Amino acid sequence: MTYVIAIEEISRACAATGVILSVNNSLFCGPILRYGSEAQKRAHLVPHARGEKIGAYCLTEPGSGSDAAALRATAVRAGDRYVLNGSKVFVTNGVAADTFIVYASTNLALKHKGIGAFIVERASPGLRQGKPEHKMGITCSGSVEIVLEDCEIPAENLLGSEGEGFTIAMNTLDGGRIGIAAQALGIGQAALDESLAYSRTRQA
Ligand SMILES: Cc1cc2nc3c(=O)[nH]c(=O)nc-3n(C[C@H](O)[C@H](O)[C@H](O)COP(=O)(O)OP(=O)(O)OC[C@H]3O[C@@H](n4cnc5c(N)ncnc54)[C@H](O)[C@@H]3O)c2cc1C
Repeated sequence: MTYVIAIEEISRACAATGVILSVNNSLFCGPILRYGSEAQKRAHLVPHARGEKIGAYCLTEPGSGSDAAALRATAVRAGDRYVLNGSKVFVTNGVAADTFIVYASTNLALKHKGIGAFIVERASPGLRQGKPEHKMGITCSGSVEIVLEDCEIPAENLLGSEGEGFTIAMNTLDGGRIGIAAQALGIGQAALDESLAYSRTRQA
């Protein structure tokens, strides 16, 4: 309730700030809190919960949106590392994010059961920003493509277990929807407040 009220009130003043907050808290911090190891929580949850860092969520691809299980990004284990390849689009906070949760498959033949969730830092070799998404509003949340080309991350950055990523992604979106609904409520309240103020001063 506290979280929803905070997002509602912030979105009433600035919808873009509301979505930045919502994605960092619901889509980045949420799954680390629920599925992360103690070491992952200390390294990634604490700075993001304090507001020292911003997180992003990378599920959507050019060819997989509603049908997220059809994603094609891959993660191949190589010793103590994973090597990620693929392209993620519409990544909210992607321009400013310090850390990303990237969904990629360790076994495409297993479809949704082959998907894993990986914590990827911006400085990881092989991660780069791709084309920006042009939006009609909420522009400061910086939506962008994130490209992974032989992007190497430590194996301990796997969140949960291999094959648990689809469950993590879907459970995370359940929480995310509450944040986005709170954002919509705040925007609606601001629109109503503006309309009432105008209708009380208008001479007709
Ligand atoms: C502003 C914004 C921010 C976003 N932020 C993020 C983010 O941070 N991270 C991230 O990973 N993604 C993000 N997304 C992507 C978002 O999750 C996808 O847009 C969404 O999953 C829909 O996918 P799509 O755009 O490919 O549409 P599609 O899945 O191609 O759907 C197109 C249309 O077809 C309909 N449709 C799809 N499947 C069916 C079906 N089986 N039967 C009938 N109708 C169907 C849909 O309802 C829709 O109307 C963002 C999108 C936007 C617009």
